[in-house]
Amino acid sequence: FLGPLEAVDSCCWRIPKTYRADMRVEGLIFADADMIGQIRQDQGLEQVVNVATLPGIQKASLAMPDIHSGYGFAIGGVAATDPEQGGVISPGGVGYDINCGVRLLRSNLTWDELKPRIRDLVDKLFEHVPTGVGQSGKYLFDKPKLKKLMEQGSKYVVDKGFGVARDLDFTEAGGCLDDADPDRVSDRAYTRGYDQCGTLGSGNHFLEVQVIDRILDPEAAEVMGLAEGMVTVLIHSGSRGLGYQVCDDHLAMFRDAPKRYGFTLPDPQLACAPIQSPEGQAYLGAMRAAANYAWCNRQLLTHQAREVFRMVFGKRWESLGLDLVYDVAHNIAKFERHHVNGVEKLVCVHRKGATRAFPPGHPEVPPPYQAIGQPVIIPGSMGTASWVLAGQAGSMTRSFGTSCHGAGRVMSRTKAVRLAAGRRIDQELDAQGIIVRARGHKGLAEEQPAAYKDVDQVVNVVDHVGISKKVARLRPVGVIKG
Ligand code: 5GP
Ligand code: MN
Ligand code: MN
Repeated sequence: FLGPLEAVDSCCWRIPKTYRADMRVEGLIFADADMIGQIRQDQGLEQVVNVATLPGIQKASLAMPDIHSGYGFAIGGVAATDPEQGGVISPGGVGYDINCGVRLLRSNLTWDELKPRIRDLVDKLFEHVPTGVGQSGKYLFDKPKLKKLMEQGSKYVVDKGFGVARDLDFTEAGGCLDDADPDRVSDRAYTRGYDQCGTLGSGNHFLEVQVIDRILDPEAAEVMGLAEGMVTVLIHSGSRGLGYQVCDDHLAMFRDAPKRYGFTLPDPQLACAPIQSPEGQAYLGAMRAAANYAWCNRQLLTHQAREVFRMVFGKRWESLGLDLVYDVAHNIAKFERHHVNGVEKLVCVHRKGATRAFPPGHPEVPPPYQAIGQPVIIPGSMGTASWVLAGQAGSMTRSFGTSCHGAGRVMSRTKAVRLAAGRRIDQELDAQGIIVRARGHKGLAEEQPAAYKDVDQVVNVVDHVGISKKVARLRPVGVIKG
């Protein structure tokens, strides 16, 4: 990126509106001086500028420190559009994996108790939790059942015994977006969704067993039930083939929207339609349905993980204390109230590789977390740390209630595979005390820790700018991958 980047403060950079005539708002990037040099090398910043041209965009096209280039929108991008001002909805601003997200489970186990059984636990997780591209699972939902599942979200599978009501209370949006419209989901998507609910998927998706190695905010940690030395489980997956199909179907339907509604786009991958148009409404209905499917997926993955812990430790998950700390979406568009130039209004917040980070006192934060803010869960990589943060007031003034979603890639998958030639990533990790089970070596090469930014540096930025604060640091001890 050769355009101008003005320092707003030590962790915020501006691309002024004057950079390109088609920008409707400025670009704002949260990163430190060290990271911004690497970020400049990537297509992500030009994508931030492209997003700044979207009809109805409010305030700024934003990017988090984990920014890297994606389909149309950068991953790590945030954009809010106003439906009353011709604001658009764009599938590329949500991503192909609709409601990809992470959830964290705590436990009563300590590392000392887990240590003798860690290999057995990881082997059994790999055996019992389906992983890999297009892999089918043990739960089957025909069309009428999928329709109900997509209307009701997590509650649908919890009512069938795959979890407890408490799980819903600690899931973003209670595990269900209202106004999902399963009739807008194509038959092809239903077919793909039939046997994939409760499966991890490929590559970047994982189920990880971790140990808390540092507590940064003892008060917030206690409220979340977290303590040093505690074993935790982090699950990362989304809406599988069903969500992918919903995205693909609607991108095709949006192809002619610019001509029909009279706007131009700098990149066809930004395909979008006015929120208030029939096409926009159709995508929103289908996207919500796919988001609800993703919450059911993470709930069924949770159930299977709890069952494996019971097998290995001979105790029910309730007595092992495998409670949900929180579940967050990081690929989603949601209608929320935000202040824009002093006026409070309803906007459509696109979070594409970005996590909601509502502050203390926000009505959508679960009652037990009201005083500390919404948990923000940040995976790092299978060989480095992951983090738990809590949403802070700055998110509402600076980033439409949003924080980062991960470390973010620094290297393409192809480059990562080249870098891993002749190496055994699983053995390297094993030597560091991290047991990894995966379908293949190529996936592990793509996901090697060096393919990602330094997660500690990324969370320092979001902590420093006041959008979320550090609570606990987690280190991996066992990972299953697609
Ligand atoms: P994404 O949703 O963008 O694919 O991934 C989110 C983030 O997960 C990545 O930016 C990366 O930092 C992190 N990540 C990828 N693989 C792993 C893993 O195996 N374990 C953990 N803890 N984090 C990972
Ligand atoms: Mn995903
Ligand atoms: Mn994801």
